[in-house]
Amino acid sequence: MKPFAAPVDDILFTVEQIGGASRLAGFDAELAREITAHFAAFAEGVIAPIDAPGDREGARLEGGRVRLPAGFKTAYAAFVEQGWTGLTAPEAYGGQGLGAVLGAIVSEIETGACQAFNMLVNLTPGHIRTLMAFGTDDQKARFIPPLASGRWLGTMCLTEPGAGSDLSRVCTRAEPDGGVWKLSGEKIFISGGDQDISEGIFHLVLARTGAPEDGVKGLSLFACPSALEDGTPNAVRVTRIEEKMGLHAQPTCQLVFDGARAELVGAPGAGLTAMFTLMNHARIDVALQGVGQAARAHDIARTYAAERIQGRGRSIDRHGDVARMLAEIDAAALGARAMAHIALVTMEAGDDPWLLEFLTPVVKAHCAQAGMRAAETAMQVLGGYGYLEEYRLSQIYRDIRVAAIYEGTNGIHAMGLAGRLLRLENGAAFDAFARFAAAHQPSPGLARAFAAWKAARAHLETGVDPGPIATPFLRLTARTFEQAVWTRIAAAADHHPDPTRIRRAAAVIARQAARTEADLAEMIAG
Ligand SMILES: Cc1cc2nc3c(=O)[nH]c(=O)nc-3n(C[C@H](O)[C@H](O)[C@H](O)COP(=O)(O)OP(=O)(O)OC[C@H]3O[C@@H](n4cnc5c(N)ncnc54)[C@H](O)[C@@H]3O)c2cc1C
Repeated sequence: MKPFAAPVDDILFTVEQIGGASRLAGFDAELAREITAHFAAFAEGVIAPIDAPGDREGARLEGGRVRLPAGFKTAYAAFVEQGWTGLTAPEAYGGQGLGAVLGAIVSEIETGACQAFNMLVNLTPGHIRTLMAFGTDDQKARFIPPLASGRWLGTMCLTEPGAGSDLSRVCTRAEPDGGVWKLSGEKIFISGGDQDISEGIFHLVLARTGAPEDGVKGLSLFACPSALEDGTPNAVRVTRIEEKMGLHAQPTCQLVFDGARAELVGAPGAGLTAMFTLMNHARIDVALQGVGQAARAHDIARTYAAERIQGRGRSIDRHGDVARMLAEIDAAALGARAMAHIALVTMEAGDDPWLLEFLTPVVKAHCAQAGMRAAETAMQVLGGYGYLEEYRLSQIYRDIRVAAIYEGTNGIHAMGLAGRLLRLENGAAFDAFARFAAAHQPSPGLARAFAAWKAARAHLETGVDPGPIATPFLRLTARTFEQAVWTRIAAAADHHPDPTRIRRAAAVIARQAARTEADLAEMIAG
């Protein structure tokens, strides 16, 4: 099995040359290179080795507590010891204040090494961001330092048995009780809802303070630590962990809040707005999970194909069809990373909120698909060996599959784009994307894709029901974005250590431009 190797050169190339991180105040390219190299070594040496054994052993529920597989506790202790938990936390609260771009680099590498580990630790930056935006000074002072130091890990508690995509159906209740709030209800599918690697768990919970008929306007956000200030356990119990297709080391928990003490974060009734701060961050993180797994799948397939001899004594990567598959995976991973980095830098710069609103669902859905497709194609490259557990492609496929489901299903994102966003402020988000695409150096592929996208937008604006055509529209949009991004990547190829590889991948994407016309035809037929 090919050991994990972090794609450091690709990441730095994209961050600096395509994502445009240098326009962010405080981004230091030299420091970014140093930290990336340092974390890559840590992930390769400490995190990656727990991935396959963790998948085999899985998390268990024993005596009402979750036990993670062997090695997770030690790996997390080393992660904390090296200060990775506080990388992006403000210095005033014990962090290093290094900014979300570095956080994203670390998060992608974590996923390539072990997605289950990434999911245990990757909510912390979003929690801190949410507390910074909505918490009181006192809450920031009490909650951020234990998150930054790694004493606590966080969860995000939204989903309930009757409330998945539709959060207006959340029933968990919050009642005021002598200066505090008490939460009662059941949450399901909560990632890391319990574990035995951090001292405490910081639950951010969406609960109802208004009447059921208030829908999402009756929801508020609560901070609910797993232990009270005097050390006694809070009334949060894990009642089961789900048996899943993948991510066996990541406990997906059912939690019961039985009068658990909690504090309101932000204004009553504004819970969803506050939760969106966390979720928008998490959506770009999910996009990077797709990227990390796509890159890992490519690395495994590329290495295998260079060694496997079949047909006239040649290694299989010299056969046209295998070379095609490898180039497609490579191009998909490189492009998806560039798209995610552009969304991330737009988020951090804060200078084009409509563009960010537009790009977030697109990168979430596209990069999740890129990860899934990459794993699937990479299996094909390995033939029968791809189907075996030994080469880990099966685990990548099983683990990344959820990226299209959580943080809003890809279908819900497609509907949000083709429905709500199309009409919001007279199409301001669509106009922002049109300006973005038009600002790129023209290429035949981009011209074709952009023309199809404009026709698709016009079709949606005729008032057709977006439901059945929302997914082809999101796909077409992602391909247009991809064509635009690849004009940048191709132009910057000489800044990459392997320009030939970049040009080969650019040619693959250019050849795919006609697919946008097929998406358009599907929309019009639909
Ligand atoms: C491994 C894993 C980890 C998770 N971690 C967390 C977590 O940490 N915290 C948390 O709160 N949740 C978590 N979730 C839950 C996840 O966010 C939900 O599963 C997801 O939001 C979808 O909700 P649902 O499963 O109820 O599906 P449903 O909402 O029932 O959707 C089923 C299908 O119907 C479609 N659909 C639903 N409504 C509409 C509509 N209005 N228009 C068009 N299509 C629609 C969906 O796109 C989907 O295809 C996790 C889930 C998994 C599997």
